[in-house]
Amino acid sequence: MLVMKFGGTSVGSGERVAGVAELVEARLAEEPFVVVSAMGGVTDALLDLSRAAREGDREAASAALRTLGEKHHAAVEALDLGPAAEAAARGEIEREVARLDGLATGVALLGELSARTADAVCAAGELLSAALVSAALAKRGVAVARVDPREWMATDASHGAATPDEAALAANVARRLLPERAAGRVVVTGGFVGAAPDGATTTLGRGGSDYSAALLGAALEECGARVASIEIWTDVDGILTADPRVVPAARIVPEVGYAEAAELAFFGAKVLHPATIRPAVSRGVPVRVRNTLRPDAPGTTVRSEAPGTGVRALAMRPGVAALFVGSPRMLLAHGYAARVFSVFERHAVPVDVIATSEVSISVTVDERAPLEALVRDLSAFAEVSVLTDLAVVSVVGRRLRSTPRVAANVFAALGEVNVVLISQGASETNLTFVVGAEDAPEALRRLHRALFEKEAA
Ligand code: ADP
Ligand code: ASP
Ligand code: MG
Repeated sequence: MLVMKFGGTSVGSGERVAGVAELVEARLAEEPFVVVSAMGGVTDALLDLSRAAREGDREAASAALRTLGEKHHAAVEALDLGPAAEAAARGEIEREVARLDGLATGVALLGELSARTADAVCAAGELLSAALVSAALAKRGVAVARVDPREWMATDASHGAATPDEAALAANVARRLLPERAAGRVVVTGGFVGAAPDGATTTLGRGGSDYSAALLGAALEECGARVASIEIWTDVDGILTADPRVVPAARIVPEVGYAEAAELAFFGAKVLHPATIRPAVSRGVPVRVRNTLRPDAPGTTVRSEAPGTGVRALAMRPGVAALFVGSPRMLLAHGYAARVFSVFERHAVPVDVIATSEVSISVTVDERAPLEALVRDLSAFAEVSVLTDLAVVSVVGRRLRSTPRVAANVFAALGEVNVVLISQGASETNLTFVVGAEDAPEALRRLHRALFEKEAA
C-alpha cells in the first residue's frame, strides 16, 4: 500500500485536481490511500473569515465566504464532471458555505471565537478539497470511497493543535478504511482535521496534513498492512538545500536521514511538518517528497539513515525572541540553570536554542510566548534582557561535529552578519545560530554559496 498526500498548491485549482487524479490513477496497482490539504490559500481565508466574524465585520465575513464558494465552484467548473456529479459537488459546496455562514453569524453575534468554533470553520477546506479530488477520480472511472477524516483521525480536545490518539486511530483505520481498500476502492480523505472524544471537530495545527498522512501510514502498518512509502506531493522537487524562495540556487537533496529531516522541519523547512517524521520512523516507512508538477523527478527520500556525512541543508525560522539571563553574582551557582528553566517550565514555554557561558544562560523562544511574565519571574533572581525580531538559522547534516571545518566555514561565510547567539555541538545533526530576522535571508544565501555552490563549481 501507499499513502499519497497532496498539499495546497497540488489541489490549488480544478486543473491541478485533475492532475492529482491522473497521478493517483497511474498508481492504482500500489493500492493508494489519498490524503489532501485544503486548496491553496483556503485555510488562511477561513481563518480570516472567523476573525472578521469575531470582530463583527459581517461585510468582510460575507465577502470571504463568497470568494471561498467561488474558488471551489470554479474548480468544479474546470473539472467538467458531467451533470449529475457536478450538481452533487455544487450542492456540497453550497451546504458547506451555508454551514460556515451559520457559524460566522453565531460568532459575530457573540463577538467571541472559541478554539472549538475556529476548528469547525477551518476544517471546511479539507472537507471540500476531498470532495473535489474524489469527484475527479470518479470521473476517471476509479472506484473511490471518500471518508470524512473525523471518522478515523481520533485526537484529544486541544483545539487548534490537537494530539492524535494513535491507538484509537489505528482501530478506526482497521474498522473504517481497510474494508474500503479490501473492496477495491481508493480511500480519499482530508488531512489536518480530526475529531475529539466528544465528536467535536479538531485540527492538528498548520501544515498538519503531512502529519495526517504519516499517521495514516503508521496506522496501516500497525494493522498489519505493508506501506511501501508515504509520499508528500508538493510544489517543489523535494527537500532542497534551502528554501528556494529565499535561496534561488537551492538544489535537490536526494536522500536524507530521519534525524536530519526532523531537524530541518523543526528549524523552519516548511516542506515537511515537523511531526511527520515520528510515525514514519517508528514504523520504518520511508517518506518521499515529490513534485506534482514534475512527477518524473525522483524527489527526496527520507529514511532512517542516509549515506554521506557533512552539511546536507539549511533552514531558517523567523518569529523568535532571545532572553539573556545573567547571574548578578557573575558566576553561575549550583542549581542556577534548573532555576532558570523552571520558569520556562512554569509558563509552559518550550525553549529552542540554548547557549550558556560562565556568567549567563541565553535561550530563544517563540516570539508569541508570554515574554513579560517570563522576564518578571526571571528578574526575581537574575538580570534579564530580551531581544525580539530574531530568526534561528540552522545548518543541518550528518556527523557535523566530526566533519572538519564546518563551524569555521559557516562563520567565515557569515562575514559581517551579526550573530546574536550560537549553539553548537549539542547534536551531531545541527549547528544553530540566531541572527536578526532581517539579516536571516542574506545569512542563508551566504551560507549556501559557501557550503553548496563552491563545491559544485
Ligand atoms: P504544501 O502546500 O504542498 O504542503 P508547503 O508550502 O507547506 O506545501 O511546503 C512547500 C514549500 O516549502 C516550498 O514551496 C518551499 O518554499 C518551502 N520550503 C522551505 N524550505 C524548503 C526546503 N529545504 N526544501 C524545499 N522546500 C522548502
Ligand atoms: N490546510 C492546512 C494548512 O494550511 C493543513 C495543510 O495544508 O497541511 O495549514
Ligand atoms: Mg505543507
